[in-house]
Amino acid sequence: MKAVRFHGPQDIRFEEVDLPKIGQDEVLVKVEAVLTCGTDVKMYRRGWPMAKPPLIFGHEFAGVVAEVGKNVTQFRVGQRVVAANSAPCNLCYFCKIGKPNLCEHLLETLIGFTVDGAYAEYVRVPERIVKQNMYELPSHVSFEEAALLEPLACVVNGNDVANIKIGDAVVIIGAGPIGLIHIQLAKIKGATNVICVDLKEDRLKTAVAVGADNIVDASKENQMDRVKELTNGLGADVVIEAVGLPQTWESAVEMTRKAGTAVLFGGCPSGTRITLDTQRIHYGDLTIKGIFHHTPLCVKRAYELITSGMFKGKPLITDRMPLSELEQALNLMSEGRCVKMAITP
Ligand SMILES: [Zn+2]
Ligand SMILES: [Zn+2]
Repeated sequence: MKAVRFHGPQDIRFEEVDLPKIGQDEVLVKVEAVLTCGTDVKMYRRGWPMAKPPLIFGHEFAGVVAEVGKNVTQFRVGQRVVAANSAPCNLCYFCKIGKPNLCEHLLETLIGFTVDGAYAEYVRVPERIVKQNMYELPSHVSFEEAALLEPLACVVNGNDVANIKIGDAVVIIGAGPIGLIHIQLAKIKGATNVICVDLKEDRLKTAVAVGADNIVDASKENQMDRVKELTNGLGADVVIEAVGLPQTWESAVEMTRKAGTAVLFGGCPSGTRITLDTQRIHYGDLTIKGIFHHTPLCVKRAYELITSGMFKGKPLITDRMPLSELEQALNLMSEGRCVKMAITP
């Protein structure tokens, strides 16, 4: 089959590889759509410590069941399906304390990172994922919209800890794919003043298209002053950082009103540190939360959001390209010239 493999930083190759072999509890999926993700751009640019090249990457996918292992009973050949990129072991310490997003064995079967992914004609879905995080797709949901399952599940997890209430003012920093999903979920939770902060005009336009009530162009205006203006001088009830830079993490905390919550969602480069005003945290009664990845429950709820039509995936998928042009697609994404690209093998 044809696939794009990561051979090292800046070295990805469209090439012929063997069809994946599946085990008795696994499923082979013919990929119909796979989405580019910021993490894929990072992998392409800098590599990833746990990724052993050559590796087929790509982890946001949907397709059709091509083969099932002999013990698989929930799925059959020909079914349209979507799956998340990981599933927990349910046995380790973190699984037992109810934090399966931090499962110590997550990396053993992480599609597109530690096992071959979906930038290919076919992808092997490991047993744990088949059992916990794979779903049949109803006919009204397109493959590319369904492929948003994984990032949406991560945002559902982040939205849970943000504790957004009806009528809240919520700042979302960053209008990339993750920020755009956060905007939608904040609206679904009942926030009446969703303020999106970004540096690029076209991204802010998309933010309005998916539901932002106000936008702040931080390249042109003082973001802190504007957020204060838009929140009666108080700061926002909830601020969600969806960029992944130390300076925006700091801004998120600064924009949060007294007794409010800052969710530091975006992953920063490793080794980075932030500086916080201790007085503001103490006298301001601030809640500051980190959050990582998703749980099977988040994946299920993301699936409900997609299949019910409550979550709108279409505005996030701005372009389409064939698998052979993946490198170009990742470059366009890293230059901010598309939100997400749907790749078709
Ligand atoms: Zn992703
Ligand atoms: Zn575990």
